[in-house]
Parts: sequence; structure tokens; C-alpha cells
Amino acid sequence: MKRCRTCGDNQPAAAYHKDASAPDGRRSVCRYCKAEIDRWDKIARRYSLSKEAFYELLDSQDGRCAICLKPMPRGTAVVDHCHDTGLVRGLICNEDNLALGFVGDGRDIPRIQRLLRYAEKYATDHTEH
Ligand SMILES: [Zn+2]
Ligand SMILES: [Zn+2]
Repeated sequence: MKRCRTCGDNQPAAAYHKDASAPDGRRSVCRYCKAEIDRWDKIARRYSLSKEAFYELLDSQDGRCAICLKPMPRGTAVVDHCHDTGLVRGLICNEDNLALGFVGDGRDIPRIQRLLRYAEKYATDHTEH
């Protein structure tokens, strides 16, 4: 068993990636922690958003999707960013991220307005049938 430098858990050697340069041939951080570190590295590189800034933003949204306002379980929030400026617009759920993708990355406003008008026009309340 080996103690992970990051989470402090004792885990079997197989839980650590091989590292030829390490004294025991394994990394000092377990693969679960490594995956988590890589995830945040990717977010930091792609969106210039640190883990701390991510959780601050999520807190400011009350843990909810910026569009549908549904609570987002841990690890499911998608960083929505402007493809032109790279600036983070907010944290949204996967469904709304896909929906935005279908309407010009959320920038095809005329289409979104027509979509809204169309949806409103044909929306009927089925609850009272
Ligand atoms: Zn660990
Ligand atoms: Zn949503």
C-alpha cells in the first residue's frame, strides 16, 4: 500500500501510474487525484478558470444552471464560454450547452427569438385535461 500525496489515502500500487523516474517506479499521486488534477488543468488552460474561480462562479449561481436554473450535481456543470473572446459566460448544464450549440453557440438571437415565439404560440397547458 502506498499513501497518495494529494488525497492521503492508502492505496495499492496499481492505483498509481507508472513513473520510471520515481524511486518505487510509481507516481506519488494516485490516478484518481491525477485525473482530477488533469481536469482542472484542462479547464484552466482552456478557459483561464481556476478551480477556486469555478466554485466561486458556481456558488454565485447558487449551484444552478444559468439557463434552466436546475441544480447541477457535482461535476456536471459545463463551462460556457464565448468562442470569439474566450471569456467565460457562465456555468450551464449539458442539455442547455447542447441547445446553445444548435442556435449558433447561443448567438443566433433572431433564431432564438423565433424559437421562443414559436414555442409560446403552440404551448398549451396540458395539465388541466
Ligand atoms: Zn489520491
Ligand atoms: Zn440548464
